[in-house]
Amino acid sequence: MKLAQEMTRALPVIETLQAHGYEAVFVGGCVRDTYMGRPIKDVDLATSATPEQVIALFPNHIPTGLKHGTVTVLMVDTPYEVTTYRTESEYEQFRRPQAVQFVTSLEADLLRRDFTMNAMAVRADGTLVDPYGGAKDIDSGILRCVGDADARFQEDALRMVRAVRFAGEFRLRIALGTWRALRRHAPLLRHVAMERIGAEADKMMSGSHPRRAVVLFARSGLLAHAKEPLPLRLTTAETSNPYVPFVSFEETHDEFTIDSDKPSDLNWLRIGLVRGLSSADAEQLFEALKYANSRRTNFSLTMSLAERMNVCIRRFTSGEESVYDADRLQYLKHDWVDAVLSHGAPIADNWLFALEHFPLANLDNGTYADADFYRMLPALLRGFREGMAVTDMRGLAVSGGDVMRHLSQPSGPWLGELLKKLLSEAAHGRVDNVPETLLQLAEALESQRESRGETR
Ligand code: ATP
Ligand code: MG
Repeated sequence: MKLAQEMTRALPVIETLQAHGYEAVFVGGCVRDTYMGRPIKDVDLATSATPEQVIALFPNHIPTGLKHGTVTVLMVDTPYEVTTYRTESEYEQFRRPQAVQFVTSLEADLLRRDFTMNAMAVRADGTLVDPYGGAKDIDSGILRCVGDADARFQEDALRMVRAVRFAGEFRLRIALGTWRALRRHAPLLRHVAMERIGAEADKMMSGSHPRRAVVLFARSGLLAHAKEPLPLRLTTAETSNPYVPFVSFEETHDEFTIDSDKPSDLNWLRIGLVRGLSSADAEQLFEALKYANSRRTNFSLTMSLAERMNVCIRRFTSGEESVYDADRLQYLKHDWVDAVLSHGAPIADNWLFALEHFPLANLDNGTYADADFYRMLPALLRGFREGMAVTDMRGLAVSGGDVMRHLSQPSGPWLGELLKKLLSEAAHGRVDNVPETLLQLAEALESQRESRGETR
C-alpha cells in the first residue's frame, strides 16, 4: 500500500524504533482511511517496544497513557501516539479493560481491535498486515467485528455506537452477525459513560453522512438504552403537524454537509428541525451528551425560535386569503422581527441559515397550495432581517445614560422598559435609529405615562 504523505512524515519514528531492534507499524484509522483513499485524521503507531523503551528513545515525548501503553512522541510539531502491542482482559462492566498485557505479537494486538477495517497495520515499506480480512470487507462495503461480535460488544459496549458511526460515515452495510449482536446487546449501552457517547455522536455529526448514522442509531435500538435518557422523539418525525418545515432524513436523498466551522452543530440543528424537537428536548439531548453549556443554550434557543416561527408560519398559511396579501405579510414581518429581538440575532440567523440550506418539505409536497410561498420564504425573511436597523440594545443609537440625562430622571426599572420600547420601535422601523428621534420618542412615552398618572 502506498503510504499517505502524513504517514511518510512519521517514518523517522518507525525507523528509530526499528534501528533499536523493535517492530513498529502504522495502525488504526490512518491505515483504513488510506486504503479507502480518504483523507486521514491522525497517524497512530504500534510497536513491540515497551513504553519505557519508547520513552528512552524519544526525549521529546508526553506520557499520555502509560498504563495503557501509550506514549505521545513529538516530531517537530506533530504528535504521534505510539502504543505498545497489547491485549486486553477482564473488561469491567462492559466498559473498558481492567488490565492490559503488553505482548510482542502484532497479530495479538490487532485482535483486540473493534472492526476488521480498524484491525489492519502497514509496515514502513508499505506491506499491509491484515490477518482478519479488513481489506476484503472494505472492498465489499461491509463493517464486521473482529472475531466474535457478541464478545466484542460485551467487552466494550461503546463499540456498538462506533459501528453505527462507521457504517454511516463510510456507507457500509453492517455484517448480519455483527448487526444481530448489536441488536441483542443494545441494552448494555447503559454501562457506557455519556461523555464517550457524546464524543461519538459528534463524530457522526461532523462526518460526511450524518443522516445514515442517525437513522442507524435509531434503528439499532441504541437510542433507547443510553444511561441518561435521550429524547425519544429523535426516532419519529412529527407528522400530525400540517406545517412540516423540513424534509425528513429518510426522504432526503442528498447528503447534507455544509461548509462551516461547526458542521456538527448545524447537523444537530437539522436533526432537531426535522424531528420537531422542542427546546426542552434539545436542552435534554445536549445535557445528556455532556456538551458545553454554550452549545446547549445555542441549540435549545434556536429550537425555541423554530417553535415560535412554526406557529407564525402555520397561522400565516392556514388562512383563506391569498398569502401575498400585503397586510398579512406585514404580520409575518412583525412576528419575525419580534422573534429576532427576543432570541437575539445570532440565534435567528442560525434558524434562517437552516431555512436557506436544508430542503423544505413543502416544496415538493403536492398537498401544499403554498409551494410558491415556501420557496420565497427564506429570501423574504432574509430581506426583513437585513432591513432591521437594529437588533439589540448595543445597536441602539442611545444608551440608558443618554435617556436619563435627557429626561433628567434618576435610574430605575422604568429605564429598562423604556429602552426596550425604543429598541422595538427602531427594530420594527417605526422610528429611525438616530439619537434625536429616539430621545424625542422617549420624551413622548414618558409624558404619556405621566398623563396616565402612572408612578415609577
Ligand atoms: P477516527 O477516524 O474517528 O479517528 P479511528 O479508527 O482512528 O477513527 P480512534 O478512536 O482514533 O478511531 O481509535 C484508533 C484505533 O484504535 C481504531 O482504529 C481501533 O483499531 C482502535 N479502537 C479505538 N477504540 C476502540 C474500542 N472502543 N474498541 C476496540 N478498538 C478500538
Ligand atoms: Mg483516530
